[in-house]
Amino acid sequence: MSSDTGNADTREQDIAEDGSTVGYQPAAIELQDEGAGWREWFGHFHLSDVVTRHAHSNDFSGSRADYISQRVRFVAALFAILTPLWIPLDFFILESSAHSIQLTLLRVVTAALLAALALLSRTTISLSLARLRLILLLAIPLAFYFASRSILGDAVEGDVILAGYTFLPFVLVAVPAIFPLTLLEGFVLMGLVVATVIATAAFVGELTAIATLSDLWLLALVGGIASVAEMSQLHALLRLYRQATVDPLTGLFNRRSLMRRLFGEVARAHRYKRPLAVIMFDLDRFKRVNDEYGHLAGDLILKNLAEIMVEEIRISDFVGRYGGEEFLAILPEADMEGAVAVAERIRTQCQASHVETSDGTKVYVTVSSGVTTLGNDDDTVGLFNRVDKLLYEAKHTGRNKVVNA
Ligand code: GH3
Ligand code: MG
Ligand code: MG
Repeated sequence: MSSDTGNADTREQDIAEDGSTVGYQPAAIELQDEGAGWREWFGHFHLSDVVTRHAHSNDFSGSRADYISQRVRFVAALFAILTPLWIPLDFFILESSAHSIQLTLLRVVTAALLAALALLSRTTISLSLARLRLILLLAIPLAFYFASRSILGDAVEGDVILAGYTFLPFVLVAVPAIFPLTLLEGFVLMGLVVATVIATAAFVGELTAIATLSDLWLLALVGGIASVAEMSQLHALLRLYRQATVDPLTGLFNRRSLMRRLFGEVARAHRYKRPLAVIMFDLDRFKRVNDEYGHLAGDLILKNLAEIMVEEIRISDFVGRYGGEEFLAILPEADMEGAVAVAERIRTQCQASHVETSDGTKVYVTVSSGVTTLGNDDDTVGLFNRVDKLLYEAKHTGRNKVVNA
């Protein structure tokens, strides 16, 4: 369970790295031109992001689930209010009062089901549950469509007002356009509408009618446009999410997402009685590097350290930029010995590597770190304060070292 979450989120981190071109380029200290206009937009576009949800982190899927379920409730409420408002029209238009009564009952039941959907709990739900609610949002009116067309038979043919009944699938195929969905999710919803229209046409004996074929063509067109709208929303949401959770310089988690992750991992480690280690890093005498070689050289060093850290940690670990030149690594399932080994590897790699300024000067820097593991009585704040103090100790006992307790 825990490593599953880790993988998904690390993938998010990887994507961000691609996007923000992490990693230092030797002998190239210059401000990066990330492109403008459409070039920038497409530079951030990954097809896999909008086709299925597999490249999304669990955290992002969680926020998308909230989005979807909130909008489902809103649209369901709207449908629940509008459905019974048609009832008087049926009594005016329909010649058969038996039909009017049947349709009234049908509308009352449909409105009640939609109202129930609108009133479902607002608490955070999983993406699968949010998708299920979205399917219900279409399935309930689709059932209404099937039943009403069966009741009316061919009475709707050529009747301008009753065309309202044949119009419903076109509304339903467009509804998903207001949700941030993947191509696959959009196809499933469109498939549901198309399948219902085909089943209904077969049931009322109009399957081979030209009108049915033209309806299907139009449904595909509207559904296709809706799909583009769904994917655009998903893409925009994903971009905003990444901007809000990823540090633009290093491509690592930013402080906000890092601390959220830390709280989550501490809770998980306590709940399942699993080990958890944290490492806090701080570059040594970094201010001096900035002063001597300039801030762009300092930035390259930060990127270089980020790259080393990502290489040295496991795929299920997390690393983020806590502050200016301070980084925090969260290592689920790691004991003290393992975490110290990781910190030592990062320290020696950092010491051995360098970046080059544009005039070819090699810049070296070292890093100090504190390492600790979660104790039974620790909360997140206690754990954080301890690792912070250990880092302080490393700084005050010589730097370029790892101190653990
Ligand atoms: P110590 O060994 O005690 O940690 O000394 P230090 O100089 O590293 O610590 P101090 O906190 O005095 O300085 C941290 C420096 O980090 C100051 C700031 O200029 C630099 N810094 C913070 N964020 C960035 C950044 O994004 N880019 C660059 N180039 N420098 C940064
Ligand atoms: Mg510092
Ligand atoms: Mg420092």
